[in-house]
Amino acid sequence: MAPCRAIVRLPTSGRSDPPTGRVRRTLVRVRTQRQMVDYALQRRALLRQVYSGRVGTMEVCDASPYLVRAAKFHGDLTEKPCPVCRREHLWHVNYIYGEQLKTSAGQARPAVELPVLAMSYREFDVYVVEVCRGCAWNHLVEKYTLGRDGLPADESASG
Ligand SMILES: [Zn+2]
Repeated sequence: MAPCRAIVRLPTSGRSDPPTGRVRRTLVRVRTQRQMVDYALQRRALLRQVYSGRVGTMEVCDASPYLVRAAKFHGDLTEKPCPVCRREHLWHVNYIYGEQLKTSAGQARPAVELPVLAMSYREFDVYVVEVCRGCAWNHLVEKYTLGRDGLPADESASG
């Protein structure tokens, strides 16, 4: 049976469907961060299937060349080891989506650029994808919204 991998397929434009994952409040890395959806449960469930042999590594280690390259040039190296090959550390790639981004929509941006983007646009979504450059494992980590619309009313009015 083919596993449900639709969750790592990124939308090509506009707003995505309502989140199905667990919504949580977390320490904000960017001040306007909101509507965080954590995909850790789905990730764990998929990995359980891989470890038990019900899903082959070929099926989950299918990062596209674009994603692997995005990790190399725009990604952020994490401390987390790859859960599949265990030889490499995972990279996080931040994909940004939103109507206001125009031609920038769908681009991968390093985490350090997100605070600036968050002040430049009113609203856009960030999809964080983890990828192993060794074995091509990849999975959606989390999704959240950034942008000036998330500022307290008094601050956004003065800008
Ligand atoms: Zn790996």
